[in-house]
Amino acid sequence: MRPTTIAIDGPAASGKSTIGELLARRLGYLYFDTGVMYRAVTWAALKRGIPIEDEAAITALAERLRIGVVPPTVSDGRQYTVLADGEDVTWAIRTPEVDANVSPVAAYPGVREALVRQQRQIAQQGPVVMVGRDIGTVVLPDADLKVYLDAGVEERARRRWREVRERGEAAEYEPILAAMRRRDEIDSHRATSPLRPAADAVVVDTTDMTIAEVLATVKRICDERCGRRRRAV
Ligand code: C5P
Repeated sequence: MRPTTIAIDGPAASGKSTIGELLARRLGYLYFDTGVMYRAVTWAALKRGIPIEDEAAITALAERLRIGVVPPTVSDGRQYTVLADGEDVTWAIRTPEVDANVSPVAAYPGVREALVRQQRQIAQQGPVVMVGRDIGTVVLPDADLKVYLDAGVEERARRRWREVRERGEAAEYEPILAAMRRRDEIDSHRATSPLRPAADAVVVDTTDMTIAEVLATVKRICDERCGRRRRAV
């Protein structure tokens, strides 16, 4: 028996989405990255000119925005296609402007309530690897397996910088590092669902690990967990 609900949490560029997707593919589970939902709301607010400080308007937007995550509709390196009210926003939600504004948006309790409700519905549809900041602590507290991936902020900023450059976009390391520090600070200190490992999460520091090493570690944890559950039956 394998766990059917796997929660992977951690800060930006800790390896969550890469590992989450590879693990889900190996297990034949759905992969769902909850960060895209917060990003889609932020993108929609910026596009509509809603001030990021306007909590009531942003919360109302989160409640009514139709966010869809579907298999890739274009072959351009994307893991999936993200739709916001039917519009393809897959890359639009990855701009520095969204990066700079997403954490204040994600700190609003009403925004989280609206999105967490949808995330729980998705998890009920079948086996899932769900990735985010509060999956093990809040969204799926009964997840069968909880992994918290961490890494030093400089290494995470380097990873993000490399990713952006590989997409062919101009990028400087220092502003990426500064934005990541700011996002870490807000995500870890907000009153509602702050970023932290669940008490029963396995914490993996990926700073000096390759993707293959992290995947092997997470798979081993997954297998050990299954073995233990099998023996307990
Ligand atoms: O994972 P990603 O970097 O795309 O997430 C963007 C932002 O969305 C995070 O910095 C955080 O503020 C928010 N987020 C969150 N809870 C989640 C997933 C993302 O608050 N479960």
